[in-house]
Amino acid sequence: MNPFKLLGISDDVVNAVKDLGFESPTPIQEQSIPVLLEGFNDFVGLAQTGTGKTAAFGLPLLELLDFKSNKPQALILCPTRELCMQIASDIRNFSKNISGASVVAVYGGANIMQQLREIRSGVQIVVATPGRMLDIIGRKAIDFSNVKYVVLDEADEMLNMGFQEDINDILSTTPDDKKTWLFSATMPPEVRRIAKNYMDSPIELTMGTKNTGNVNIEHEYYTVKARDKYAALKRIVDFNPDIFAVVFCKTKMDTQDVADHLIRDGYNADALHGDLSQQQRDKVMKRFRERSMQLLIATDVAARGIDVNNVTHVINYSLPDEIESYTHRSGRTGRAGKTGISICIVNTKEIGKIRQIEKIIGKKFTKADLPTGFDVCEKQLFALINKVHNVEVNEKQIEQYIPRIMEDFKDLSKEDVIKRFASLEFNRFLDYYKNAPDLNAAADERSDRGEGLNRPGFRADYTRMFINLGSVDDFTRGDLLSFVCNNGKISGKNIGKIDLKGVYSFFDVENEVVDTLFNNFKAIEFNGRNVRIEKSGEAESNKREGGRRDGGRREGGYGSRRSGGNSERRNSGERRNSGERRSGGGGDRRREGGNGSSGGFRDFSGRSREERSTPRREGGERRRRD
Ligand code: AMP
Repeated sequence: MNPFKLLGISDDVVNAVKDLGFESPTPIQEQSIPVLLEGFNDFVGLAQTGTGKTAAFGLPLLELLDFKSNKPQALILCPTRELCMQIASDIRNFSKNISGASVVAVYGGANIMQQLREIRSGVQIVVATPGRMLDIIGRKAIDFSNVKYVVLDEADEMLNMGFQEDINDILSTTPDDKKTWLFSATMPPEVRRIAKNYMDSPIELTMGTKNTGNVNIEHEYYTVKARDKYAALKRIVDFNPDIFAVVFCKTKMDTQDVADHLIRDGYNADALHGDLSQQQRDKVMKRFRERSMQLLIATDVAARGIDVNNVTHVINYSLPDEIESYTHRSGRTGRAGKTGISICIVNTKEIGKIRQIEKIIGKKFTKADLPTGFDVCEKQLFALINKVHNVEVNEKQIEQYIPRIMEDFKDLSKEDVIKRFASLEFNRFLDYYKNAPDLNAAADERSDRGEGLNRPGFRADYTRMFINLGSVDDFTRGDLLSFVCNNGKISGKNIGKIDLKGVYSFFDVENEVVDTLFNNFKAIEFNGRNVRIEKSGEAESNKREGGRRDGGRREGGYGSRRSGGNSERRNSGERRNSGERRSGGGGDRRREGGNGSSGGFRDFSGRSREERSTPRREGGERRRRD
């Protein structure tokens, strides 16, 4: 039997959820549906977002309401317009086989007349944000005397947003004997108080450990200097070619600035915050949902209730003021059983806050090191190779060009073509990431000594060497060690850290044997190929010389993730509304590497982002936007 049916859900609804691809209930559904179906209890469910909450209360409601009557019998209150629309749409889907079932979504920023018309035409389920609901109640345009169930969804968020009084006023218009079902990701004292004041011995269910973050989410933090935050963000994004992320900033201004800079630097990004009109916000969200945008830069308030599956990363560009908000931020990833990573970019002074968050989510953070420029290059190179493997060839379209392409390549072996093609991309990355500094805060003194590609693990009495052999040559670290020692006639004791890469590697060698190594390492071959060793700084400058000489003008993106075409350069002060905004293409890109961080934030005002950001919060405007 269908597992939803086993829980007591009727055929019409079971068929509808089957059509949505729900094969079996999520844990929260499994636990709460049987309890809620009884229909005579108040209920408190502690559950993270993205766990299937909407069906957990939506399906029982559909079993309990009388769809022959056209009177509102269920009221669902939630904090944001986005969540409101989402819940209404979900319940419409669940109830599509129930004749006469009607759901209205009532939220601010949309035409109230249309909402009033829908209410007048008869509805059983009202999904609302508190501000607009109160407005409609004030117009005496709705009769709640038949309400049997009130759902308070994301109760902690509604209280955070200052809706306590509105909720009191709305609930006072509903019958005393209604049942109240409250869902919340966290249980701060204010939410407890609601449960105490409005509920009668509620049944309480905790999905996962109380106040514990979603088990599918891993938490990482990177420590950087405040001025390197933007470069660190780019590094993280570049190291994750398939990233699909929400980046959280503290203020609207920061949000817009980060988005503007990312767009200018050729990333497929856009901003979502309270200064945008509702129409603009809808457009941004549509693009993100459709995945035609990779990075959504958002404030806490604007991102509340965002229900987009498959978000791979949440990046906390700044930590939230209220550490409880972290749970909501990170809950944008790891949804519907998927895994996700929540990243915090912090400075050393903020590590205390990380420890506080660990207590709240009941999980430890991993301290991660930002990838080096070379790590990024290698990752991007192999992502490209992977793409080549998976690309769909349009035989019909390409057919006509094949003879000419074959002719052009006839003097090259297959190996040469592959090498050249791979180098095309690889050189580009090297070009950008040449001299890219180590951004990890603890390693800063080293980068100040001007060592080019600084690496954690560098030791002053060692010289870092480059060798054009790596894992693609089937080398392990041990193989490389013996190859270098045998051919260079030095001892293994002289070798320090070995970083095995793909087509090349690095190793540290004691300064006193560097000359011996060079003297012996002449005309060495491996598999018919000349083996080259160089001091790593020299290797860099050679690559630079061999690289592009286009005076900094760059074409196209580093991969298909960046939209092509010419990007529009914009001055930092310029603002476009989201309707006009477009993701930047390659165009004239300045990036963090090369001549310092010419493309980074710090160049635009001389002050760091932290110094410039106005610490104003969105609180004052929350109510207005509902
Ligand atoms: P929610 O927590 O209600 O926002 O749900 C998060 C996501 O999980 C939504 O995209 C739902 O469509 C999906 N979902 C909810 N319940 C199930 C289920 N039983 N099986 C598969 N997906 C589900």
